[in-house]
Amino acid sequence: MLDQKFIELLSENDAELFFDEPMSKRTTFRIGGNADCVCEVHTLTALRSIMKLCNEYDVPYYVLGLGSNLLVSDQGVRGLMIRLTGEFNDITLKNDNIVCCKAGATLAGLCVFARDRSLSGVEFAWGIPGSVGGAVYMNAGAYGGEMKDVVISVTCVDKNGCIRTYTGEELDFSYRHSAFSDTDSVITDVSFQLKKGDAAVIADRMQELMNRRKQKQPINHPSAGSVFKRPSGYYAAALIDECGLKGYTVGGANVSEKHAGFIVNDHNASAEDVKELIKYIQKVVKEKKGVQLTCEIRMIGE
Ligand SMILES: Cc1cc2nc3c(=O)[nH]c(=O)nc-3n(C[C@H](O)[C@H](O)[C@H](O)COP(=O)(O)OP(=O)(O)OC[C@H]3O[C@@H](n4cnc5c(N)ncnc54)[C@H](O)[C@@H]3O)c2cc1C
Repeated sequence: MLDQKFIELLSENDAELFFDEPMSKRTTFRIGGNADCVCEVHTLTALRSIMKLCNEYDVPYYVLGLGSNLLVSDQGVRGLMIRLTGEFNDITLKNDNIVCCKAGATLAGLCVFARDRSLSGVEFAWGIPGSVGGAVYMNAGAYGGEMKDVVISVTCVDKNGCIRTYTGEELDFSYRHSAFSDTDSVITDVSFQLKKGDAAVIADRMQELMNRRKQKQPINHPSAGSVFKRPSGYYAAALIDECGLKGYTVGGANVSEKHAGFIVNDHNASAEDVKELIKYIQKVVKEKKGVQLTCEIRMIGE
C-alpha cells in the first residue's frame, strides 16, 4: 500500500498515474499481477522529483520500458513502475551522423529515423520490440549487431535525482549487460554514432532481417523473446530442441514449436507456469547436455 501523503506529492508532478494496474497489459508476455502504481512520467523535472520522493518515502521503484523482456509475478509489484513518455520519446539529429534519443523512444522509431536520414548502424535492431532505454540496459542485439557497437554516451538519473553521463568504457557493455544492469538509475538519453549510408540499402537490410524474424520466431504469440542467454559454444534453442522439448507445456505456457528458445503464452499462462517450465527446461538440458542455461528475461515482482 502506498502512503497517502506520498500519493498526494506524487500527483503534483507532470505524470499520469495508474493505480492497481495489471502488468499483463504492460508486458509482451501478457502475464503479471497488478502493480501498486504505474507512473507515466512526461518530463525530466518530474522524473527527478519523483525519484527523490521515492527515496524520501522509501518506496521501491522499477523502470518499465516496453515490457518485452519481463516476466512479472502473479502477485504483482509493490511500489512504483516508472515509465518514460512525453518528452522522453524525442529523437533528434546532431552533427550529421549522431542521433540523440530519449530513452522512452522505441527502437522501431530509432530505426525509421536513421533509415530516413540515410544513416546506417541500427538496422540490426529492427524487429526488437523494446524501448531505447531497455535496449541499452540489456545491451540488446541481433544478427551480429548490438547496442555496444553504436552507443557513444548514455545519461541517467540516480535515486537521489542526480544526473550523470557515461561514455566509452564506463558503459561497461558485454553480452546482455551494461553499466546500468541491476542499478537503480533511470536511463534518460542515449547518443548513437551512425555512418552515412544508402537509404535503399538500409531499408533492404531491415526488410531482410524482419523476414528472417517472421520465418524463425513466433512473433504473433505473446512472449518475451529468447528466454535464455546464449551459453558459450552452444545455441540455447538447439539444445532445447535436441532434448525433445518443443511443444512441452506447463499450464498455459509452452515451448514454441517454431523456435525452441521462446516460451509462448498461448492459454492464459500464469507467471508460475512459465517459471516451472523454465526450471524443467533447465533441468532436462543440464541432465541430457551438461549445459546450465541461465535466464535472459528479467523476473520481477513479489
Ligand atoms: C518477439 C521478441 C523478440 C525479441 N528479440 C530480441 C532480440 O533479437 N535481441 C534482444 O536483445 N532482445 C530481444 N527481445 C527482448 C527485448 O525486446 C529486449 O531485451 C529489449 O531491449 C527490452 O526493452 P524494453 O523497453 O521492452 O525493456 P523492458 O522489458 O521493459 O525492461 C527490461 C530491463 O530494462 C530496464 N529498463 C528499461 N528501460 C529502462 C530505462 N530507461 N532506464 C533503466 N532501465 C531500464 C528494466 O528495468 C528491465 O530491467 C525480444 C523480445 C520479443 C518479445
